[in-house]
Amino acid sequence: MGKRFKPEIVYDRDDEPMFRCPRCGMLFKKNKDFVRHVQKSHT
Ligand SMILES: [Zn+2]
Repeated sequence: MGKRFKPEIVYDRDDEPMFRCPRCGMLFKKNKDFVRHVQKSHT
């Protein structure tokens, strides 16, 4: 695997999809925010 990895898709209690970082468990409302987090924290 390379440096990039995919978030786990989870649904909150309002059935809104959220993106969870498999490395640290942080949750993001937008995939874009997840990608930015990975670039800042996991590279
Ligand atoms: Zn993370």
